[in-house]
Amino acid sequence: MSGLSSARYLAKAGWTVTVLEKGDFTDGCSYGNAGFVCPSHYIQLATPGIAKQGLKWMLKSTSPFYIQPRLDPALLRWGVHFLKRAKQKYVTQNAASLRDIGLLSLNEYEQVWLGEMDFDYQHKGMLEVFQTQAAFKECTHIAKIGQDLGLEIEMLDKTGLSELEPDTEWNAMGAVYYKCDGHLNPAKLMRGLYNNLESLGVQLRANQQVTGFKKQGPLITEVYAGENSFKADAVVLAAGSWSEQLARQLHLNLPVVGGRGYSFMVPVQNHHRIHRPGLLVEGRAAFTPLGNELRFGGTMEIRNLDAPMSLNRVKGIINAVENFFPDYRGQLDFNKIKPAIWSGFRPVSVDGMPYIGKSPSIENLVVATGHAQLGISLGAATGLLVSELVRG
Ligand SMILES: Cc1cc2nc3c(=O)[nH]c(=O)nc-3n(C[C@H](O)[C@H](O)[C@H](O)COP(=O)(O)OP(=O)(O)OC[C@H]3O[C@@H](n4cnc5c(N)ncnc54)[C@H](O)[C@@H]3O)c2cc1C
Repeated sequence: MSGLSSARYLAKAGWTVTVLEKGDFTDGCSYGNAGFVCPSHYIQLATPGIAKQGLKWMLKSTSPFYIQPRLDPALLRWGVHFLKRAKQKYVTQNAASLRDIGLLSLNEYEQVWLGEMDFDYQHKGMLEVFQTQAAFKECTHIAKIGQDLGLEIEMLDKTGLSELEPDTEWNAMGAVYYKCDGHLNPAKLMRGLYNNLESLGVQLRANQQVTGFKKQGPLITEVYAGENSFKADAVVLAAGSWSEQLARQLHLNLPVVGGRGYSFMVPVQNHHRIHRPGLLVEGRAAFTPLGNELRFGGTMEIRNLDAPMSLNRVKGIINAVENFFPDYRGQLDFNKIKPAIWSGFRPVSVDGMPYIGKSPSIENLVVATGHAQLGISLGAATGLLVSELVRG
């Protein structure tokens, strides 16, 4: 998303753009996610309570959060930075930036992108559904911050939730209704974007794994992909969870780890239609209506990028769904779901704030990564900001 969106804005600004992709532009983290476009996510990932909560979660194989303990200096560096950034002052400082990049992105999708491609975009808001008094208290506190930031947010009790979403039964106490949010079909967005880039004349080079760079003084002059080399006036590094490895070749410190998440789709039954996407707060899972299907997803598992899937985490998502949606109790057969489970690695920066900026030492390099759980939401704005940076 970050790379293709940057390519789009640069091509529109008149640059001749080549995208080098190690895969084939059909899968990856940007394809099977929940598709929220959510200025409502104005709280950065690193929060004061997360370290304590994270340690508890690490002991359970179905829990929504896991860090594989390993002696990896890059992971240790990232962890130390993460704990340093998990402070209230940073949470407060960064809220307005997340809101602003989120709103800029949503506006670009609605006012510009929708005129050029179809990605099933809808602006119906997003629900944060909770079950307990403790979550109600926490959600009310966070909603108040958003209201103070000028976002349209409403608290719903159980009756309000059932009136808004009458075609489903809820095992919940209430919800926060973030009216400011939209949602989309991410795979359709990526396909639309690919076609859009082709029509703009962007060279989309599949199976080109970037392996190195040629530098002259403070400039990158060539990018190597195996035997192939590509001359460049400017370079955008947007390699998602692999960005740190590439940055290291340029002697840059860019702490990013892969936070793996899982999702699966189920057909919508007529008596169980949900019209808005949302989060199951205590279950730490997301749901998104996508046509006649419903996508469920979640978990954040920080481990090696080549580790096999840990399917037990998907059982945790199923448990959360069955708990919040009585209609689904006994309906989600893990063995039937298993073959179609999707997973992707979110590129997680040291606090969950994206890195969008110029390199301090390489004059023609712009970085666009680290978006964690917000790469689609902030995707359009990221491309726009990158193009402004590249153009000086
Ligand atoms: C379960 C789940 C749900 C999510 N829900 C949401 C949501 O609702 N809203 C939201 O905004 N975000 C969501 N996210 C997060 C979002 O998917 C990511 O933030 C986003 O996809 C990251 O995009 P990216 O372009 O930075 O990275 P990627 O999509 O990973 O793209 C990086 C690309 O770089 C390529 N690459 C890597 N190394 C090289 C190399 N050496 N040479 C060439 N190519 C290379 C990779 O193949 C990849 O295609 C979710 C994620 C998950 C897992």
